[in-house]
Amino acid sequence: MKSIIDTHTHLDEILDVPSLLASCASLGVGELIVAGTDLKSNQRHCDIRKQHVLASPRIHLALGLHPGNIVALADTEDCLCFIREHIHEAIAVGEMGLDYHYKWVKEDEDKKCAQKDVFARQLAMAKEFDRPAIIHSRGAYRDALTMAKASGVKKANFHWYTGPIDVLKDILDAGFFVCVSPSLEYSPEARAVAEFTPFDRILVETDTPVRGWKPMDVWRTLKLLSALKGVAEEELLVVVNRNAQAFFSL
Ligand SMILES: [Zn+2]
Repeated sequence: MKSIIDTHTHLDEILDVPSLLASCASLGVGELIVAGTDLKSNQRHCDIRKQHVLASPRIHLALGLHPGNIVALADTEDCLCFIREHIHEAIAVGEMGLDYHYKWVKEDEDKKCAQKDVFARQLAMAKEFDRPAIIHSRGAYRDALTMAKASGVKKANFHWYTGPIDVLKDILDAGFFVCVSPSLEYSPEARAVAEFTPFDRILVETDTPVRGWKPMDVWRTLKLLSALKGVAEEELLVVVNRNAQAFFSL
């Protein structure tokens, strides 16, 4: 059976994980990269991975602290400690990054500083342990790229990137990747990004459970990307799987 990798999914937010994983296996979603967003979510993903004994889908951990979850200082420290302690179980660090989309962040320099501090510390961990960085950059595209470059990480994936094309150009020039989601269906920004990005820098994802998507919707991402790029789905599948395997050292 054909098999695809969903490179960005949040299983911790799913109620019935075993039945979702069974559907993944029967629908050819052979591998999942589960991205943590706070301490609880990272712990839950570690547990899900341990409890999941079936061969398919393979579950790979990314441990991270999402910029939207930086609230209490003690929680931040606990989460960063957990990531460090469990880094040997993880293939990547993330979901990390910056998000200036919210009005209360946009207008508050202290909140931006707190996000930058936590992002810098996760980038430093990615560099120290030689793991790729999974980056959330909504509304903070240029700052996120500047920090990723300054950190010296070798691999960075700007997940669900819908920012400006000039920043995208610099992301690609830096050797980094972008990831596209089923939002290719409705988002002109997402489509512009997919059109501009060369085949060897594209990954596919769902960001489950955003908009009710599930990991099998990664096939929709593939189908939409195939139509946009004018390349057969079978050919594109080989390319995106190869990209994911190389990027995450699977
Ligand atoms: Zn996400």
